Amino acid sequence: MASARRPKKAAKKGSRKAARKVEARKTAKREATRMAQGGSAKKRGGARKRGRVRHTKFVHNRVAVVFDWDNTLAPDTYDALVESFGLDAQRFRKERYEPLVADGWEEILARCFTIIKESQARDHFVTREYLEAVGRGQKVFPGVPELFEHLRRRAGEIIDDIEVEFYVVSSGFIDLMRGASCADQFDGMWGTEFAFGEHGGVEFVRQVVTHPEKVRYILALAKGLDVGGSNEPEDAYRRVPEEDVHVPVSQIVYVGDGGSDIPAFTFVEGEGGLAIGVFPPGTSPETWAGWSAMDEQREEERVENLAEADYREGSELVRSLTLALESICKRVALGRLGAHD
Ligand SMILES: [Mg+2]
Repeated sequence: MASARRPKKAAKKGSRKAARKVEARKTAKREATRMAQGGSAKKRGGARKRGRVRHTKFVHNRVAVVFDWDNTLAPDTYDALVESFGLDAQRFRKERYEPLVADGWEEILARCFTIIKESQARDHFVTREYLEAVGRGQKVFPGVPELFEHLRRRAGEIIDDIEVEFYVVSSGFIDLMRGASCADQFDGMWGTEFAFGEHGGVEFVRQVVTHPEKVRYILALAKGLDVGGSNEPEDAYRRVPEEDVHVPVSQIVYVGDGGSDIPAFTFVEGEGGLAIGVFPPGTSPETWAGWSAMDEQREEERVENLAEADYREGSELVRSLTLALESICKRVALGRLGAHD
């Protein structure tokens, strides 16, 4: 499974005990939400019996910030891996990766294939431990480690018991991301994952997150469904009762760096959430990876703001993220006021 959810959410499929736990958690969550809305289940039931119709929306007391990884929170994991081989990443891309893409290969599979070939040519040296070590050595962008607490604090200033969750949905290599110093800040991480052979080296692809598939993962985390490892994409499109939704997409902020994020930008913005675009530190907005498509882009594909991937307090990006999160929290606060019907 290409996910790295915290253990609290890792209910085992097929286990009755785990299923009962999940159900108990959902019941507790429903009750907590009802209480947050200013009443008990009994009260609401009574209102229905008297024929009153609820006129306000259901309120979820949770917001989420979902990040792409490559060139959004950290340098590209493919380039980092290639450079760890002692090779020039740009040259490797040009000579090994680009011809495959030109030949019609899916981009993420082409990346994996070139890494597997390189590992096989050198006695299967790219093992899980090797990938994690490269991940540990990879630096995230400035300010990333401090960002999570900052955003939690600012959201808490608007609603003191709001739950703020962080996720990664990326086409990058999950084994590298897991090694990063900030990995334990995320409530869930999804990315492309290798399978390892008996010699210990990368042998095949176990899970792949293509660019358009990011939408499926966002939808799944919004609904609280675990689709990691599943070969049934329709699972994410299963109807989930409003009160069982984990976090509505309208309460999600999505942060990504380029053209590969446009399906996610479009989806999140279309559902009432907010999308923020970033360009890598030291580059300029003019060279933004998503810019080439921007002129022809439809209104709903655009982002709220485009800022340099500088996560230090006071930067334009952190101000943008803070405003985005605050505006969603204020909408939740308004909903909670209106819940006393
Ligand atoms: Mg990216």
